[in-house]
Amino acid sequence: MNTADKAQVVTTIDAARNTVVQLVRKLQDAGIEEPSIGLVPTMGALHEGHGALLQQAKDENDAVVVSIFVNPLQFNEPEDYENYPRTLDADVEFVSGLGASIVFAPSTEHMYPGYPDARFIRVDSGEMGASFEGASRPGHFDGVATVVTKLWNILLPPSPAQFRSYFGQKDAQQLAVLRKTADDLNIPVEIRAVDLVRAPSGLALSSRNMRLDDEGKTRALALSKALNLLREQAEAGEVLDVAAARTIINKDPGVELDYLEVVEAETLKPLGEEELSQPLQREALALVAAVVEPVRLIDNMVLPAAR
Ligand code: AMP
Repeated sequence: MNTADKAQVVTTIDAARNTVVQLVRKLQDAGIEEPSIGLVPTMGALHEGHGALLQQAKDENDAVVVSIFVNPLQFNEPEDYENYPRTLDADVEFVSGLGASIVFAPSTEHMYPGYPDARFIRVDSGEMGASFEGASRPGHFDGVATVVTKLWNILLPPSPAQFRSYFGQKDAQQLAVLRKTADDLNIPVEIRAVDLVRAPSGLALSSRNMRLDDEGKTRALALSKALNLLREQAEAGEVLDVAAARTIINKDPGVELDYLEVVEAETLKPLGEEELSQPLQREALALVAAVVEPVRLIDNMVLPAAR
């Protein structure tokens, strides 16, 4: 790859703002009056799942900006934060190869001056951020909504440029919380969802998989197997056997189930017993979380309505 193709890496907030302004001007000079900029927020350790976000952002916009920042506010365990994989050089290569123009990779000090002692104003992710992942990881979605709101404010291109932000269906609750954050806080960004990417084995791609050994990766397949059972039942127009899906996970003592629930796709409200006692009358989402030491894994699958 020649240097002209390499994404420009910026690490300070001022540099990020200026670089986005320059990018918009450059696109306008090239004749695009209202350029569109796609932002892909990530925590790095990039894999093909992130690649799908970048690809879609590239397809739908005139230029792509990627942020790489391991956000301490969204971690519950200091150990998980410290052990989170950090592979910036490889990540820059990866996103450059996929056509990103700018990589914003700030330090913690730039994003949160005085961290960890200073106290910050945070976004409250409300009821939606308190269930499922939020119940097991209190404050997690406040941290996510806070950092993404900051990223939007820092990287928002000047008018009349369009701004889109890309998130994976892999983190279905995060996607729902961030849609609501943009909506409730009137942030001028269009949220775009990207389908979940899996390994050929069925395992949902995640940066955390790097911390699983081969045995852990095999155990982790219980999550997608349980979800597949529900999807097959939904596709066949059968009543969902959620208990059987939970058993697929529970029968391996090496996998500790946190939750497996069928919810409304948009609000993430669990479907009631009555609705679950008949074939699905509307599309739903199955959400699962389990611990395969040393990592907590999440996965989900769309369940179609019975025809
Ligand atoms: P992360 O770096 O884990 O915070 O993820 C950054 C973005 O990539 C989020 O919007 C994730 O939902 C998305 N992502 C991570 N893994 C996948 C995957 N396997 N398929 C699709 N999107 C993903």
